[in-house]
Amino acid sequence: MSVYHDEVEIEDMEYDEEEEVYYYPCPCGDRFQITKEELMEGEEVATCPSCSLIIKVIYDATMFKAEEDEETVLNDKMKDMKLEKH
Ligand SMILES: [Zn+2]
Repeated sequence: MSVYHDEVEIEDMEYDEEEEVYYYPCPCGDRFQITKEELMEGEEVATCPSCSLIIKVIYDATMFKAEEDEETVLNDKMKDMKLEKH
């Protein structure tokens, strides 16, 4: 049932680091958007809040999984450091 308006590579999208949202211009004048969190969960459809168009985001899922792992490792390291202080 899904008919994509377009398929866009993640590299071609604009990333807002503060909001952690990827944007891509929509023909209606608004922007398609998808959050980094959604991408990490495997979501690949970016939606436009102003119209019914959707696009498929082409990206490497391992790119986000790797980052998640890195953060987990970092948190573990910080826990270790705190433990060492006691
Ligand atoms: Zn739109």
